[in-house]
Amino acid sequence: MTVSKIVCIGWNYRPHIIETDAELPKEPTVFLKPPSCIIHDGEDIVIPDGVTNVQHEVELALIVGKRCHDVTESEALRYISHVAVFNDVTARDMQSEARRTGNPWSLAKGMDTFGPLSDPVPAEGLDLSSLHLTLKVNGEVRQDGNTKDMIFSPAFVVSYLSRFMTVEPGDVIATGTPEGVSEIRRGDVVTATIDGVGTITNRVA
Ligand code: MG
Repeated sequence: MTVSKIVCIGWNYRPHIIETDAELPKEPTVFLKPPSCIIHDGEDIVIPDGVTNVQHEVELALIVGKRCHDVTESEALRYISHVAVFNDVTARDMQSEARRTGNPWSLAKGMDTFGPLSDPVPAEGLDLSSLHLTLKVNGEVRQDGNTKDMIFSPAFVVSYLSRFMTVEPGDVIATGTPEGVSEIRRGDVVTATIDGVGTITNRVA
């Protein structure tokens, strides 16, 4: 399936808001990553020269199954056909500087290879409100969270987004990361897992 866009939700778990000095959002914070950032299991996350403090963010990705515009929360999940594991790789120093100066952080989030995505699995039968997410670096657990701790649920996110932005089949909606984000460096092996959904491993180059 073609991906026309990756829509990301920022700050959707309280502890991650605290660790990044952000404010509790009243509405979802929405940003985009370009489809060109997607890589698959076994491919390298490449940190360009001069880019500092690149961090991992394990997230539940919702894959849109049919064109979705202005849907209610109760019908929203019917538009999600699959789910996957996503790693919203972020150049944190660049993002922080953009936030400080009030400028967009597109580049900090949108670099090539900054979107590891696992093979999608059917959403049917999964309870999206109770999925265990982990992220390991070189075998050491850095993130250990559960989608039950989201501020904005997957259904709410899809409904909210659809009021403003049509999502197309194949589009990816990344639902935010729990706490524990940390720097990854060249040579590290990064494994993001959601129990019952999948796992994706990428080396940092
Ligand atoms: Mg994120």
